[in-house]
Amino acid sequence: MTSPDYASILDEIYRDLRPHFGRGRVADYIPELANVRAEHFGMAIVTVDGHVYRSGDADLRFSIQSISKLFACTLAFQLLGDSLWDRVGREPSGNAFNSLVQLEFEAGKPRNPFINAGALVVTDVLCRRFVRAETALVEFVRRLTGEPSIDYDLRVAESELAHAERNRAMAHFMASFGNMDMPADAVIDAYCRQCAISMNCVELARAALFLANGGVSPANGEQVVDASSAKRLSALMLTCGTYDAAGDFVYRVGLPAKSGVGGGIVAVLPGEFAVCVWSPGLDPTGNSQVGQMALEWLTTRTGRSIF
Ligand code: GLN
Repeated sequence: MTSPDYASILDEIYRDLRPHFGRGRVADYIPELANVRAEHFGMAIVTVDGHVYRSGDADLRFSIQSISKLFACTLAFQLLGDSLWDRVGREPSGNAFNSLVQLEFEAGKPRNPFINAGALVVTDVLCRRFVRAETALVEFVRRLTGEPSIDYDLRVAESELAHAERNRAMAHFMASFGNMDMPADAVIDAYCRQCAISMNCVELARAALFLANGGVSPANGEQVVDASSAKRLSALMLTCGTYDAAGDFVYRVGLPAKSGVGGGIVAVLPGEFAVCVWSPGLDPTGNSQVGQMALEWLTTRTGRSIF
């Protein structure tokens, strides 16, 4: 099958979406994120055979927030394999990303690694293994992208740390069920720093590309995970990557994806490409509003999705 003309399609999407730029609400519960202009829009596709297509602000770094959960989960899965699932489930939650309600009924075992509670368990695994979990994660994305300048933004991390009551409550609650190995506050500290990593669309697409390439990072040839694990991580993105909007997102877009409240969404088409879109305005489920439109148009106009 010949590849679609991704360059022209990205140009068309940019042009047709322009009247919608700025839609949605920029996250402000982390005060530092509220300073980002809602009108930004960037999109990048990186193919497994090395082509890069970009539009708009594709080279401007932004706060990856929950997209970091994908990389953290990959590292934890590398370390623990299937025993990771003793501590965190693999089912969609049907609740908001920061919800606490299920945790009591389900004895402190979060539904999946992409909601906050599950990501805190994953970060706990990393905190146990590494002296600084956030540094391990920064080094991981640097390797995946070949970009040594990627780092976390201390101001964003401190801004979230000063307003992390809900996540702190979650971590302590899970500790009360015995599902936290390290001190809850140390885990929160590492979690807020990992969420504050800044990357741009091209870097994020490049970092996620191993999932579209049987677990091998085309950037450096590294076998990040085996092909079967790449399938499993992608399946989790499909069912849980956009929280309680996952069903609607898959209906519209048809790709495994992971979003963040910084307005980024990264998605993969196995065997072909990884794509990242960034538009800071969110819908009520915490997913980028214009970003979801862009991805829906991409898969509709190219006729390419996993279905
Ligand atoms: N750091 C954010 C939080 O914990 C990440 C949430 C997100 O991107 N959905 O609330």
